[in-house]
Amino acid sequence: MKRHTNKVLRVVLRMGALILTCLMLGGACLVPSRSLKKENLLEDYILRAFQLLRGGEPDSSEFGRWYRDLSSGKASISGMLDEIVSSPEGAQMDPAVTLDALSRLMTDTPISSEKRDQYLNYLSHGVSMHRVVWELSASPAYFGICGKVCVNPGSLGELSPRDKDPEVTMFVYTLIKDLYYGEPGSETDYDAWCEKFLNGEPVAPAVEEIVRTKGFPKANEPAGGWDAESEVQVLFEVMVGQEINEEQEKVCVDALENGMSESYVISLISETYAFQKRCTDLQLIAGEVELTEPRDQNYAMTGFLCQLYTRLAGIKPTAEEMNNFVSQTLEDPGKTRDTIVEIVSTSTSLEDLSDEEFLTNMYTVFYGREPEDNEIESYRIGLSNGITRERVLSEILKDPAFDEKMAEYGIDSYVEPVIPEKIIALTFDDGPYTPVTMRILDVLEEYGAHATFFVVGNRVKNYQDCVIRATNLNCEIADHTWSHQTLTKLSGDAVSAQINDCADTVYNLTGIRPVVMRPVGGSYNSTVSQNVGMPMIIWSVDTNDWKYRDSNHVINEILNNAKDGDIVLMHDLYETTASAVEYVVPELVDRGYTLVTVSELAEYKKVKMEKGKAYFSMRG
Ligand code: ZN
Repeated sequence: MKRHTNKVLRVVLRMGALILTCLMLGGACLVPSRSLKKENLLEDYILRAFQLLRGGEPDSSEFGRWYRDLSSGKASISGMLDEIVSSPEGAQMDPAVTLDALSRLMTDTPISSEKRDQYLNYLSHGVSMHRVVWELSASPAYFGICGKVCVNPGSLGELSPRDKDPEVTMFVYTLIKDLYYGEPGSETDYDAWCEKFLNGEPVAPAVEEIVRTKGFPKANEPAGGWDAESEVQVLFEVMVGQEINEEQEKVCVDALENGMSESYVISLISETYAFQKRCTDLQLIAGEVELTEPRDQNYAMTGFLCQLYTRLAGIKPTAEEMNNFVSQTLEDPGKTRDTIVEIVSTSTSLEDLSDEEFLTNMYTVFYGREPEDNEIESYRIGLSNGITRERVLSEILKDPAFDEKMAEYGIDSYVEPVIPEKIIALTFDDGPYTPVTMRILDVLEEYGAHATFFVVGNRVKNYQDCVIRATNLNCEIADHTWSHQTLTKLSGDAVSAQINDCADTVYNLTGIRPVVMRPVGGSYNSTVSQNVGMPMIIWSVDTNDWKYRDSNHVINEILNNAKDGDIVLMHDLYETTASAVEYVVPELVDRGYTLVTVSELAEYKKVKMEKGKAYFSMRG
């Protein structure tokens, strides 16, 4: 009997405890009924949620916690589902399965294939499952379910930046994958970038900054390396979210191949309708790219210099080189010629070009056409005998057509020559003679000084090196007759022959024909005047170096007598003369003189020299 009573008592007590629990839990529920049926619904729901989302039942403490928290209103269904899907086991489930399960659990319907695909796409581009739970928890069906199982629908609170707007996250995904890493990994980066853009950071400048500071990622490098086409395609894809069309691609690729920067291309893309529309759709700020590099300031000029360099060197200039070239010409258009000569003299692959290719390329770049044979004959001669390409180029660039071409690029390359304050023309007769001429050239080269060498025609063949070097140093090779004949004793024809034979010899070596001559001994008469065919250059300071063969005498003659506009006579035959020149050149430079050739002297002094006329000096 006692046993039976105990048993009954135990059942009654147990029932009482259960009723008590139901009363306690039921207090939190808005639905007044506290029938076991409702509790079973919640129990079932929890078990089903775990099964569907984690593939197994919760353990009893887990179950108990959720049961308690949900019943008391401390937790919400969405909060529980969110926690299950983000747990390690939940995260291992097939996302398609999880999506369908969430749809069933939260809206009581299977997910549509359309919605599933959209979510799967988001999930694989940086959006989390949290976003899905958040979205479903806003549906009326969810509220219905919460009511049915008698729990608080709750709210999931603030979304992380990457979950706020899946379309923006998709954009950030491509940005990170294509431009940042190669492989998107860190969630922090998604959040950081999404937050920036959602907070109104302009998109185009951000893309520009990434590319400018990081370049294109090694990890994504196409076979054969990043080239203009692949860069343009990636930038367009990232910014616009679709493939670039042929026409737009050509514009962008051309820009890169003409030496413009990636920043410039990004600014081009940022101005397209497609990009602007995308930003509007995503409610992001498109922004404007600020172009700071010199090469981006003048497309035409950059294109020209880039083409020139590429033609000559066979490779494109680096960004740094391009910026240097362009900024030089933009800062000082008068230095355009110098810049071009610099390009030619610094491009290392230049040796690979034949002289013929070099000349053809020059003409094609400068004038848009191949040269006529007679236009380049002289350069061909010079190049084949050791005249440098820089020297030839500076000759080609003297053509006024060059300035016209530059004007098309908005560059005013013509400059009035800067006239030095004090100028002297040192002249050397009767050479060349290697032991002396070379010493003189050494010191001229060191001080950037020019001089005129009145050579005797029949000596040229034996001392070609001197003549070539002097020409390369921008010195003037002038005519001092073929065989050092006193011209006043010769017939008109013989005078012509003496001058022409010498001039021909010089031309056939350097490709540059002498334009001034000096009669032997400074002697001339009317026959000489009428037949030399060139201005006759005499002198205003005679060092008498041939007579004294004394360095100090030469030095004193020059330093005591030579003034602005003077023409100084010396002979590059004597070691004493070379020694004097070694002293005099630095001294004159130190005293503020610029040492020039006779032709330069006439140009600076604005003397238009005439054939057959004698010039002693060009003092102002
Ligand atoms: Zn002489």
